[in-house]
Amino acid sequence: MNMITINENLCKGCNLCTEFCKRKVYEQPEKMDSKGVRVPVPVNEEECTKCGLCTLMCPDQAITVDEKIKAEDSTESEDSTEAKDKTEAKDRVESKDKTKADENLKMDEKDES
Ligand code: SF4
Ligand code: SF4
Repeated sequence: MNMITINENLCKGCNLCTEFCKRKVYEQPEKMDSKGVRVPVPVNEEECTKCGLCTLMCPDQAITVDEKIKAEDSTESEDSTEAKDKTEAKDRVESKDKTKADENLKMDEKDES
């Protein structure tokens, strides 16, 4: 049973999931599908730590990482890697948000002057 599922009807082939997954789980195929989209393929599912970063980054909510399979498969050492990856994923999203907030603040300050 596949742990990672990409909804081909939603995926636009932006490749963000492939770029952001540091475990190199995804690969972009050379060939496009019938709609001209290169839907990434989770070729290294066994490397996935279920950090959730790909699902957070996907602008089309096309990715599902099966949490149930995760619980069954997890070993102790994988759990600690997963926790670390989750923290890093959260930090990256938060730092992205902070950058946006800083930019907004700068723009507000500019507007006021
Ligand atoms: S959940 Fe994390 S490790 Fe798994 S494919 Fe997505 S980004 Fe990669
Ligand atoms: S991030 Fe989402 S839309 Fe972009 S290639 Fe990956 S699955 Fe497709």
